[in-house]
Amino acid sequence: MSAPVEWCRTWVIDHRVDAATYERLGDARQLADARSESVGALIVGACCDPGALIAAGADCVKIVKPVRPADPGSAGGSAGRVAGCGPLGRTANAEAILAPYRPRVVLASGGPDGREWAARLAVRRGWRLVSPALQAGFDRDGRLVVTALSACGRYSRKATLGPDETAVLTFRPGVAEAMPADSDRVGTVERPCSVEVGEEPIRVEREIPANPSEIDICDADRIVAGGRGLGGADGFQRLARVARVLKATVAASRVAVDLGWVDRERQVGQTGKTVAPALYLACGISGASHHLAGMAGARHIVAINTDPNAPIFKAAHLGLVADLHEVLSQLEAQLAAEPRSAR
Ligand SMILES: Cc1cc2nc3c(=O)[nH]c(=O)nc-3n(C[C@H](O)[C@H](O)[C@H](O)COP(=O)(O)OP(=O)(O)OC[C@H]3O[C@@H](n4cnc5c(N)ncnc54)[C@H](O)[C@@H]3O)c2cc1C
Repeated sequence: MSAPVEWCRTWVIDHRVDAATYERLGDARQLADARSESVGALIVGACCDPGALIAAGADCVKIVKPVRPADPGSAGGSAGRVAGCGPLGRTANAEAILAPYRPRVVLASGGPDGREWAARLAVRRGWRLVSPALQAGFDRDGRLVVTALSACGRYSRKATLGPDETAVLTFRPGVAEAMPADSDRVGTVERPCSVEVGEEPIRVEREIPANPSEIDICDADRIVAGGRGLGGADGFQRLARVARVLKATVAASRVAVDLGWVDRERQVGQTGKTVAPALYLACGISGASHHLAGMAGARHIVAINTDPNAPIFKAAHLGLVADLHEVLSQLEAQLAAEPRSAR
């Protein structure tokens, strides 16, 4: 049984509930259990099913619907309030709700929005931001030790926090681990009033979705990666076509980069970048330990290799012992025949 709700020292914060929220709740549960404490979930935004957050590890769920003053001249008038807010409003609400609990750890989303208000919260409270984090745990002396990536994801570092420090950690999707839902878990649900905030410093005029083929491989949700087995720069052009239909981005092994077939910024591995996409399709990559170091955390690894003994198959969830050119041709034809909505 969990500790009383007043002992909520580990919090998961978010402005919407998605798979990554549940993943961070799983890690939060482990951290709190190590110290016989409780876990809080604070959603500054919409949450339709607080019970699911409790089943996933929260002891206390707080949902706050942020409001901001209406624009003068709008239907609500200057005295009106409208729903919704940006990072300033989210931070103000999180600060007001979390401060009395004196949290030890706050786990925030590693997406662009989440990173922004996690950083604001840390600065406002004088808490320590570690971002992007990979894992966190307590050492024998009860100090929180966090493994995190450098900003470009090329190397990892360890941060040890003092006993009185509060850590704000951001986790990218796929890095933390959700626990199986337990419908017998009990917890409290509260809907506190929103703190009213002034005008946001940034106004979103329009959201333009990023072109998946151009984004940084560290931010990609789907990656199609190639190695020496692609046989040349032409092979990467084919890979780029497949990536385009799969809404994925292209990455590569170091050999492919050293051979000049693809830019160095796309290299995955020990001396490249560390990635954690939902899908990693490895084509003609042997799976040397230096490469695996950068992609073993991908949620679904699919490997195509002619060599049944290639080490990549030990890391893959699905392996095809096949010629990648044949598979890619069939995949291209299949995807072209499928309606766009099915991809
Ligand atoms: C200090 C150090 C750091 C390193 N850092 C990195 C790093 O960051 N990232 C990295 O990737 N590597 C790194 N390396 C290199 C690493 O050890 C491997 O040499 C490299 O990953 C191999 O690249 P590869 O898999 O593309 O090539 P190979 O090992 O040559 O593998 C090619 C694979 O393609 C398969 N193949 C060939 N033809 C086909 C076909 N038609 N269809 C299907 N499969 C086919 C072959 O069976 C083979 O398994 C590092 C090495 C060192 C020493």
